[in-house]
Amino acid sequence: MKYYIITFGCQMNESDSERIAAVLEKIGYPKAQKIDGTDLIVVNMCSVRQSAVDRIFGLCQKFAKLKSQNSKLKTILTGCILKEDRKKFAKKFDLILDIKDLPNWPKLEKLKTQNAKRKTISRFKNYLVIKPKRSNNFSAFVPISNGCNNFCSYCVVPYVRGPLVCRDYKEILREIKDAIEKGSKEIWLLGQNVNRYRSKSKTINFAKLLKMINDIPGNFWLRFTSPHPSDFSNELIETMAKCEKVTPYLNLPVQSGDNKVLKRMSRPYTVEQYKNLVKKIREKIPGICLSTDVIVGFPGETKKQFENTVKLFKQIKFDMAYIAKYSPRNGTMAAKMKDNVSHQEKEKRYNLLTESLKRTALEKNKKYIGKIIKVLATEKKNDFLIGKSFHYKTVKFKGLKNLIGRFVKVKIIEADFFDLKGKLSQPTVC
Ligand code: SF4
Repeated sequence: MKYYIITFGCQMNESDSERIAAVLEKIGYPKAQKIDGTDLIVVNMCSVRQSAVDRIFGLCQKFAKLKSQNSKLKTILTGCILKEDRKKFAKKFDLILDIKDLPNWPKLEKLKTQNAKRKTISRFKNYLVIKPKRSNNFSAFVPISNGCNNFCSYCVVPYVRGPLVCRDYKEILREIKDAIEKGSKEIWLLGQNVNRYRSKSKTINFAKLLKMINDIPGNFWLRFTSPHPSDFSNELIETMAKCEKVTPYLNLPVQSGDNKVLKRMSRPYTVEQYKNLVKKIREKIPGICLSTDVIVGFPGETKKQFENTVKLFKQIKFDMAYIAKYSPRNGTMAAKMKDNVSHQEKEKRYNLLTESLKRTALEKNKKYIGKIIKVLATEKKNDFLIGKSFHYKTVKFKGLKNLIGRFVKVKIIEADFFDLKGKLSQPTVC
């Protein structure tokens, strides 16, 4: 009776899958290395983009084939599921389960195994209390909150994840200490609106939490995602600047470079406020690597409004950007607006913005040539080890697999738009 998990979407879903794995192993399911021959397939779904939903429909055909070969095979759908997709998927999966109900999954008759070690772990009210089964021992995703209260007009998160709920800070610190003791070199604090964190007593905000984590002894880097510009306080900037383990990297979603579009997106800041925030951050943390999330072709976005986004990109000079072509998500406010930018026009705007980004990204990356930087090696692809630098630059270099999960020194010899190439420098490990 083996399980196999397929995860779509963000790091939060990756992290949830680690908790699902922990629960399944507790009730007697070992992990399968491949999908064929498994007895339980869990799809941890993402609804942020339609493309992920379509891919799951595609997977259902594969599941039907696997079921014809193995009558015992069960399939579960969980994660971020929109109400209407829930109905569509009801006939295609054996179970559709709420991730927040994870502590109660072991009680389900359909999941019972012969070799169950523990019948229930339902004493946990919040599923985030469940100890994750980490997929590696060098990078730990630690959710500090779940859900969001912002209701940006295009976003499904508040509907599928519910309102913002923050974890107890002592529990977060315990989880991080445990990960560091087990060898984690990189801690990712996760939350859909991560910098809105407040402890129950309201005494610990995100900046204070960051400082407390920074004070934990150990050789590790501290990163977080995803912050909201409106919740980015001066205290947080000061804290980031002072905390040596907090890496000089920030993904600060702007979503549009036009005030009217921002308003329709229900993003409560202006382009000027965003630029001012970036200025303050760069003053306090010189050399910080900045990326953003942006949507092109939002309902009603005119050519002029799109050009304002291009202008903003030229002014800010992002290191990286995650550019999305708008697609309506059912149930959101934006889905009620007329999706009047054609597919071709969205494609064109996507390409134009990508070209603009490439220019600034390359310009920034070239500055690394000749420098020796510290990199956390995370995987091997073909002949190359791949890792992330302190500034969250992707670095490729030749090296042995046993360096995965270790900090190494790399001399940068080449710069591309979105990655750096280098060679190991002596002494290799640092
Ligand atoms: S802040 Fe982020 S998660 Fe929350 S509604 Fe807006 S885009 Fe979605």
